[in-house]
Amino acid sequence: MLRNELIAWINQALEVDNFQDYAPNGLQVEGRDNVQKIVCAVTASRAAIDYAIEQQADMLLVHHGMFWKNEMPCIVGWKKERISRLLAHQINLVAYHLPLDAHHEWGNNAMLAKRLAWKLESTSEQGLLNIGSTEKKQSLLELANHIERVLQRKPLVIGDLDKTIENIAWCSGGAQGFFPAVCMDSKIDAYITGEASEAQYHYARETNTAFIAAGHHATEKFGVQALSAAISEEFMLQSIFFDENNPI
Ligand SMILES: [Zn+2]
Repeated sequence: MLRNELIAWINQALEVDNFQDYAPNGLQVEGRDNVQKIVCAVTASRAAIDYAIEQQADMLLVHHGMFWKNEMPCIVGWKKERISRLLAHQINLVAYHLPLDAHHEWGNNAMLAKRLAWKLESTSEQGLLNIGSTEKKQSLLELANHIERVLQRKPLVIGDLDKTIENIAWCSGGAQGFFPAVCMDSKIDAYITGEASEAQYHYARETNTAFIAAGHHATEKFGVQALSAAISEEFMLQSIFFDENNPI
């Protein structure tokens, strides 16, 4: 199918115009006009690009693209290596950042909740910060073990492991920045995101709100797979997920 028709469909489905983002959503590097085979991945790394080349894909669909606000814009070093490979093989690089975190069905946060059986009650921050509850009351240790089983990665857990958890907040990826505000809400027992910074340890201890960093990659690998599965079903295109097993 035509690349531009496919991208227009995704842009509309993900409501990209509703987001203030710090990366361009949609086509980032132009390849061939027609798309039959898609490789999807969390990040447009060189490994993902090499895999797309190996698979003779027409499109690499990712959550983390290649161009970020305040990043050095010059095409040198690792960036030159990535872009030159895409151009040489006419592979379209298509990226969806915040719209793919927030989508109510295919988004990273929705998929994380689905996999972990969490119930959503409300969202804020452009739909990125999710408030809800666990399937049943459980200890922080039980919650940590459940996350480890589902994401296949040991999370970093700050808090009393015997503490009872029911009301939670979550945001996939590098969203530790929401924690200073979230931990002020005494109803929230635990906050789950992908990454941690030094300060989160202190906020968690001082407010008795548990903090879990379950992995940036691990919390963001379901959204792009859900999106590409929806595309495959709608347009009968082939798609393959490249899982890089990034420990961060
Ligand atoms: Zn991310």
